[in-house]
Amino acid sequence: MAEPKENVLMEKITSLCKRRGFIFQSSEIYGGIQGFWDYGPLGAELKRNVKEAWWTTMTRLRDDVVGLEATIIMHPKIWEASGHVATFADPMSTCRQCKKLVRSDQIWDMIPENAWAQAIAELCPSGSVESPRLFNWAKGKGKHLAPNLALVRNPEVTLSFLAERVNAPGALPLTTKELYQYLATDQFNATGLMNPCPHCGGELTPPRPFNLMFKSHYGPVESDENVCYLRPETAQAIFAQFKNVHETARQKVPFGIAQMGKAFRNEVTPRNYTFRSREFEQMELEFFIAPDEAIEAVTGAVATPAAKGHPGEPQPNWGWQMWHQYWVEERIKFYAGIGLPRTTLEEYWQKPEELAHYARACVDILFKFPFGTQELEGIAARSDFDLSQHERCSGKPMGVFEEELRTAFSKLPPEKQTALKERYYQARLKYLTKMGVEVAKAGAEAQEDADGLAKGQYIPHVIEPSAGVDRLILALLANAFTEITETDAKGKSETRVVMKFHPRIAPIKVAVLPLLKNKPELANKARAIFESLRPQMMAYHDEAGSIGRRYARQDEAGTPFCVTVDFETFEGVKDGPQAGVKDTVTLRHRDDGRQERIAISELLPWLLARVR
Ligand code: ATP
Repeated sequence: MAEPKENVLMEKITSLCKRRGFIFQSSEIYGGIQGFWDYGPLGAELKRNVKEAWWTTMTRLRDDVVGLEATIIMHPKIWEASGHVATFADPMSTCRQCKKLVRSDQIWDMIPENAWAQAIAELCPSGSVESPRLFNWAKGKGKHLAPNLALVRNPEVTLSFLAERVNAPGALPLTTKELYQYLATDQFNATGLMNPCPHCGGELTPPRPFNLMFKSHYGPVESDENVCYLRPETAQAIFAQFKNVHETARQKVPFGIAQMGKAFRNEVTPRNYTFRSREFEQMELEFFIAPDEAIEAVTGAVATPAAKGHPGEPQPNWGWQMWHQYWVEERIKFYAGIGLPRTTLEEYWQKPEELAHYARACVDILFKFPFGTQELEGIAARSDFDLSQHERCSGKPMGVFEEELRTAFSKLPPEKQTALKERYYQARLKYLTKMGVEVAKAGAEAQEDADGLAKGQYIPHVIEPSAGVDRLILALLANAFTEITETDAKGKSETRVVMKFHPRIAPIKVAVLPLLKNKPELANKARAIFESLRPQMMAYHDEAGSIGRRYARQDEAGTPFCVTVDFETFEGVKDGPQAGVKDTVTLRHRDDGRQERIAISELLPWLLARVR
């Protein structure tokens, strides 16, 4: 059951976002369009800063990662090769009564959020079954809240099924889920109990796959020959351009290609504000590494993780496990650097049965959103599946050649050569047969690949840290949201919001304020300081209202620093160690309201050191 307190928090965040211009509903004047969101003036800055931080960390500050900016619409064969055309689908159920579509695997997250389910939970507290109360509810309020629930349509039959179950000898107490299912069932179908529609309580169809890709056509004719898709992820363009980038960027494996940009998924039930949108942005890295067999041939032995935590600087003997752990830790470090410390995150290591057939490991980095702990980013070790698929489907070679590997391999003792070739052969064979290649052909191709390894050739494996910009923005908003209550001299209390963003991602870095608007000396100086800062960072100039109100406005926008030009700027500091010093301003810190004086000449370097 969703905790009401958390929903209240979510409501506060969404209302702040609208009021202050972080996030608006797309096409609001026409009633909005579900699953699409716009970023307002503050949101646009916040988003730019997040993307800039990611790009800087992932590409500019590294020798081994380069960037890519590919098109959103690509050749449709890319999505056949990647498996998206065949399998990028969510299970979907339709309500037979209200006709709404629901993602079948989200039904039980959605039901407790609805008023009818909450009412039933209140009628039957802690597992008790209060049939008379349920009957009365069905005849009254239930008709409005859940008109299609079996209990409401046919209370006698539904309650008799329920009574049979509850009174059966040795019956275990009902779970909440079971209770809702019984109340949704007045006739049993082949699968037994019914699942209720979260919206109206009606009967849901069994799940069927629904492809999430937005489909369109390129060119003037709408035919099967010119079908195209809006990309559902940014990653595939990286694989498709792997050879071009490898050849032009003067990079050797291990190296990565990073891309960020729009992705589109026709989510069945977009929900939880921007968390699950139909148009969103991703920040993805494909980090290409050699297969373990190649590493072993060159370095003698593959290093595997000895302990949890960051494994340190990359080493030539790292296999996929070390690289995977390295990227998990690097990504957690990134989050800490923009204000989401490790304590706000959780790691979820997918169980073997949850992994895609080609994946060797996948860690989800989770954040405790107000509506539950959910995925922010996934970091997957995807083997050589992606490049292999594009090689097979395009007919273009995707492998690399390493002279170092060829030489090392030729110097290995024969039994070692045989063992490594055999392992590589088995891995390739497994992939090829899994993809439906006929056994004899797969065996011959796998043998060719194993012979290729001995000659210094292989298809790179990949580690993929894949993050969502919008989910990260939502996490940052939730994490920054702080309410403080202040009592004035007359004893009147007021609660207001302070958005405690890390200075690196805060939309506005500094607000420059004259203490009084009507004193030209103060106003002109403040304007001049603002003009000197704005080419370097997002600065804001505000003259309107009392200084306290202006500080509060900036706190709500999440501005970490305010600079106030006051009389001491001209007359000299009144007291303290800086007494008599002119050309200083008051610098106010958002998080604790602390104020200090700083020389105007020192302001820019002081700020730059904190906001970049
Ligand atoms: P989920 O299971 O939540 O649907 P996923 O595992 O399908 O997510 P990936 O395909 O791994 O997600 O995409 C990588 C990242 O892209 C996710 O961690 C998330 O941050 C972001 N993302 C995916 N789908 C959406 C969406 N509909 N709206 C916003 N962000 C999304």
